[in-house]
Amino acid sequence: MDKLEIIDSPALVRREPRNYYVYRNWRVRPIKARIHLGSCSFCNWGKGTGRGTPGRNGKWHGPFEKFGQAYQFAAATGGEVSTCGHCAPR
Ligand SMILES: [Zn+2]
Repeated sequence: MDKLEIIDSPALVRREPRNYYVYRNWRVRPIKARIHLGSCSFCNWGKGTGRGTPGRNGKWHGPFEKFGQAYQFAAATGGEVSTCGHCAPR
């Protein structure tokens, strides 16, 4: 097999962990728990966008290995569970 072909195979190019994070915002009613991918620009692996005061409006939880785990956590917070429209985790 041609070597270049192996390198170009999409499965071998990048295998980033698809970790999930939950952002719980308690400054809104009802409280919201939004699920993001770690790589989402809003999430930034749980660091957020860096704007505003960290921990003032909400808190990042995670990482979760599977979407189901993130969803369960989000639901357990009692908040309204939604997924980010930007990174569209599933
Ligand atoms: Zn997101």
